[in-house]
Amino acid sequence: MSAQSPRMPILKRAGLRPFPPRVSAFTRPFWTTLGEGRLITTACRACGRLTFPPKLVCRGCWSEDYDWRELRPSGVLYSYTRVHVLPRAFVADGLYDFAIVDLADGVRLMCRLLGDPAQFAPDIPVEMVVAMYDDGPLFAARPTG
Ligand SMILES: [Zn+2]
Repeated sequence: MSAQSPRMPILKRAGLRPFPPRVSAFTRPFWTTLGEGRLITTACRACGRLTFPPKLVCRGCWSEDYDWRELRPSGVLYSYTRVHVLPRAFVADGLYDFAIVDLADGVRLMCRLLGDPAQFAPDIPVEMVVAMYDDGPLFAARPTG
């Protein structure tokens, strides 16, 4: 892994993750590292492309030779939406916001958007955070500052 970035804030959340990820031997390093406040993904050794979520095969050149690379936990809000019709697993959460974030390292990802919706707007700076549930972590974004 490359030089370490600042750790993400870890926000305690009550209860279990509403839709827990399926953890495999391949994705375990991602989830373990996320629980420590760091966001990592796979980087292709052949062409250098970052993929998110982590993938065994590069979607650029199909190489299966990869490294884990730490991502800087900052970026900008590309777009967002409020979910009004809740999937059954998320009913207990009530209305929530969902983001597409462009990280500083060039990765685009989707995640929960936390914080005051009055602050949400395209292109605002955001930071990545860990939502730590009783059964493990999820990643989310929130406006910076
Ligand atoms: Zn590649």
